[in-house]
Amino acid sequence: MSKFIQETVTHVHHWNETLFSFRTSRQQSLRYENGHFIMIGLEVEGKPLMRAYSVASANYQPELEFFSIKVADGPLTSRLQKIQVGDPIILSTKPTGTLIAGNLRPGKHLYLLGTGTGLAPFLSIIRDPEIYEKFEKVILVHGVREVSELAYQDLIEKELPNDEFLGEEVKQKLIYYPTVTREEYKNTGRVTTLMNSGKLYDDIGLPPPNTDDDRFMLCGSPSMLKDLCVILDEAGFKESRHGQQADYVIERAFVEQ
Ligand SMILES: Cc1cc2nc3c(=O)[nH]c(=O)nc-3n(C[C@H](O)[C@H](O)[C@H](O)COP(=O)(O)OP(=O)(O)OC[C@H]3O[C@@H](n4cnc5c(N)ncnc54)[C@H](O)[C@@H]3O)c2cc1C
Repeated sequence: MSKFIQETVTHVHHWNETLFSFRTSRQQSLRYENGHFIMIGLEVEGKPLMRAYSVASANYQPELEFFSIKVADGPLTSRLQKIQVGDPIILSTKPTGTLIAGNLRPGKHLYLLGTGTGLAPFLSIIRDPEIYEKFEKVILVHGVREVSELAYQDLIEKELPNDEFLGEEVKQKLIYYPTVTREEYKNTGRVTTLMNSGKLYDDIGLPPPNTDDDRFMLCGSPSMLKDLCVILDEAGFKESRHGQQADYVIERAFVEQ
């Protein structure tokens, strides 16, 4: 167990039957970049049971936060969903990942396109003051099936715009676009459909993306990523690889077993 550290759960919030969030204590020696993921888990029968998780808290915050699915028969989340304040969580000490601003060429508009728990890395990125220095607009698109999956709306719509330090930048630059596929809502449809039709850009009042101005971070299911990459590649955007700056970066929100 030596390559892992142990933290303590400080807060748990259940959004609905399939999603929950929790916070843990944080040793300040654990450093990460906003957008990174880390291996977290529980000790099961004396062994660590670990899975990749995006860190939802910003890297300057005193605690770590995670946004999790509940998979009924999932080895980790069938157990993790039962955690309570005071319980131990195991973490690796090596955060990593591609969804970092340093992997993108300078641009005007940063699109953060996430589905389901793919919102998690963007929760840390929209709390990063440097993001607002680098981009004129930051567009957070969160695609879900049902309205109850639109987690963190209070944080995005109320807390951040009123934040003592970030508030003004957030009010001027952050555009939040939640969209739902299986229920009635103010915005409906898949992210890919909204991009292909141009409705997304009409609704947010920005021109259709071009390779000079627009940058993208994508986090979602393997199939969502595949479809989005086709759209971006066909429009001439280049994916960042091996840490080289380019127009877009992707991270899987989960892997199909
Ligand atoms: C880079 C990376 C970052 C990740 N970040 C997160 C995160 O921030 N939050 C999170 O909940 N999960 C995240 N995951 C997925 C996570 O690693 C686990 O798969 C998840 O916690 C379920 O674990 P499990 O052992 O219960 O089930 P697993 O055996 O790992 O998964 C069982 C099945 O459940 C489905 N599934 C797993 N995770 C998800 C998900 N997040 N959304 C929808 N379906 C899913 C898949 O079909 C998978 O085959 C991430 C995965 C990767 C690769």
